Amino acid sequence: MLTREQALDLFRADDLIGIGMEADALRRKLHPGGVVTYIIDRNINYTNVCTEYCSFCAFYRPKGHKEGYLQSHESIFQRIQETIELGGTGVLMQGGLHPDLKIEWYEDLFRAIKRRFKIHLHCLSAPEVTNIAEVSGISLRDTIARLRDSGLDSIPGGGAEILDDAVRYRISRLKCGTDEWMAVHRTAHQLGMRTTATMMFGCGETLEQRMNHFDLIRNLQEETGGFTAFIPWTFQRENTSLGRFVKEEATAVEYLKTLAISRLYLPNVLNVQSSWVTQGLKTCQVGLRFGGNDVGSIMIEENVVSAAGARNHATEEDLRHMIRDAGFTPKQRDTLYRTYFLN
Ligand code: SF4
Repeated sequence: MLTREQALDLFRADDLIGIGMEADALRRKLHPGGVVTYIIDRNINYTNVCTEYCSFCAFYRPKGHKEGYLQSHESIFQRIQETIELGGTGVLMQGGLHPDLKIEWYEDLFRAIKRRFKIHLHCLSAPEVTNIAEVSGISLRDTIARLRDSGLDSIPGGGAEILDDAVRYRISRLKCGTDEWMAVHRTAHQLGMRTTATMMFGCGETLEQRMNHFDLIRNLQEETGGFTAFIPWTFQRENTSLGRFVKEEATAVEYLKTLAISRLYLPNVLNVQSSWVTQGLKTCQVGLRFGGNDVGSIMIEENVVSAAGARNHATEEDLRHMIRDAGFTPKQRDTLYRTYFLN
């Protein structure tokens, strides 16, 4: 396994192709079948009301703002119905940290969804889970267990950004710290749930801070084995207050290098995602030769990164074509990266 020093050397090296080839060799070993996966699912942002004011976020509205919303059950049901009709297998439901929604609101919603639909619920990032625990006055473990019992199937890795408190203090001072993010994922794994690990980089962090993030993910995966995938993407600056200070978004070269080093540094996380939503289809395609074995979601609806300026759109056929042209077989998967029951 790559050491921290070796990974730092790779970050500092300019042999982009060499790093990509090493990552590609490891991807082939981990995924010998030549398959690249994607999922059809829908992002549902149930509320944009949030108390946290993260400086990289263009999505939230403070409570009482005229553009603040909370979706009704009916509107959420309608979106799920449309997702199923389009061949979707899951929903990724995330929102702002609403100051008034207690756990009962989420339990009622998840139970109502599960009564009506056969759909995987991949919902509530770690900051939302900690917020629900706080607003409801119950422990983190009880919160996650109750959410699971009411229908939550897995937890997305959102809210990780860079798992280093000095960075978090600078970009998302009010939001959950590194320990809390880790506690949500560790507890979920202990309660039998799978989660994903994400990283938003290019927000002014140092390479050492990026490595701190990698180390935490690698160590927790050694401990629990609960992460299904690692999903790195780059900070999108448009319409964000952080964008006034971070003048340049990470380049495609920096993205590909970080993707490849993710693959190499986290051999214990089976799947690494190459992102077309933030990087565009062409960089995403090259990413499949830099360690990526998955291209994420068709994204029937997405409001958060599009609010920050990412405007990439693709149909299922676009993604399949892009995967085939890179020399792989495209396969639809579900949220837990299973393909056996689909095409
Ligand atoms: S990133 Fe999440 S927690 Fe931060 S302001 Fe946006 S919606 Fe709120």
